Amino acid sequence: MDQRIVDEVVDTLYSGWITTGPKTKKFEKLLSAYGGQRITLCVSSASAGLELMLRWYGVKAGDEVIVPAYTYSATANVVVHCGAKVVFVDVGADFNISLESIEKAITPRTKVIMPVDIAGWPCDYDSINALVKKPEIQHLFQAESKEQHILNRILVLSDAAHSIGGQYHGKRVGNLTDITVYSFHAVKNLTTAEGGAVCLNLPEPFDHDAIYRALNAKSLHGQTKDALAKTQVGGWRYDIIEPGYKFNMTDIQASIGLVELSRYEGDMLVRRKQIFDRYASAFSSYKWAQVPEYESHNKRSSYHVFLLRIRGISEAQRDQVIREIFSREVAVNVHFVPLPMMTYYRNEGYQIKDYPVAYDNFSREISLPVYYDLTDEMADTVVEAVEASVMTIIGV
Ligand SMILES: *Cc1c(COP(=O)(O)O)cnc(C)c1O
Repeated sequence: MDQRIVDEVVDTLYSGWITTGPKTKKFEKLLSAYGGQRITLCVSSASAGLELMLRWYGVKAGDEVIVPAYTYSATANVVVHCGAKVVFVDVGADFNISLESIEKAITPRTKVIMPVDIAGWPCDYDSINALVKKPEIQHLFQAESKEQHILNRILVLSDAAHSIGGQYHGKRVGNLTDITVYSFHAVKNLTTAEGGAVCLNLPEPFDHDAIYRALNAKSLHGQTKDALAKTQVGGWRYDIIEPGYKFNMTDIQASIGLVELSRYEGDMLVRRKQIFDRYASAFSSYKWAQVPEYESHNKRSSYHVFLLRIRGISEAQRDQVIREIFSREVAVNVHFVPLPMMTYYRNEGYQIKDYPVAYDNFSREISLPVYYDLTDEMADTVVEAVEASVMTIIGV
């Protein structure tokens, strides 16, 4: 946060328009230009955007949605909200959903797959997009809603809460699959305090402008006109076409996002990459350190969180290492406790033993801080605290 953001927010506050209006529309256009998606709809959060799109696709009781076991609760909770069944699948060593596990989990009830780009590392979208179009998989699909009849296959709804700015084959996250949802929550790479966006890239013959209008209504109580349109001459009369949600973004939020986006690629991501490089080079000399992949021949991370793993360590030892790190006045975190380990999902009958890679990743993981204002000196303090703590607990 700095004076530019303060000025942009103050400009909105005094502009005469504080809720969804010109700044939100401008932010949407600039997000489409950045991500490369056909059209973008800003919403109040990624959770709202994911649920909106599950509802749009007609997901309901009796349907199944495939979700990685290793993610934040939002990805799965929205499926529960729709009354559908969450089908957790295991992940790979790169923390992302495993293609093999997806393939085994598909049934005639599967309506949606929700890959998550954990820590900003894009999933293998070529394989996932090809899988849902395989004749034998497409054959299983049972279309029920109008949208399902048009697509006539499993929808790929990507949770890109971490990965705006990530790249796959030189294309940005946002235009890698049918629908992608960004989060602009305060802890994410690009923030509007709370907020999110739905990026659409549906195949022919879907009409993106028509879907955008439908989603606008769906995210605003099913109103045929938003508050701004109603202020136009003769525009007072509107209709309610469905019992929609209240998921719209305000211009106050969008004004923060406009400044963030203007310096995201050229400044914020540059700094995040420097921090990743600094951690990676510091830890690469230690046998006990497993450094995450964040750049490859066909992928680039958005450098969201640095998921360090300690080799050959138990969950209890990892917890001890974290306590040691905190005692050195460095705050670290764990992303994420796999959802089958959470009380609600455990009580629903999911068992972590069915997701061995998710558990292994989690049990050895420590997320190191990555944020724009983290200085090189602070990053070095983090590295020293981690080294000393690992030394103390496992004596290497
Ligand atoms: C933060 C997060 C979300 C939810 O984002 P909100 O904008 O807070 O709703 C969803 N999925 C993942 C993986 C997240 O980390």
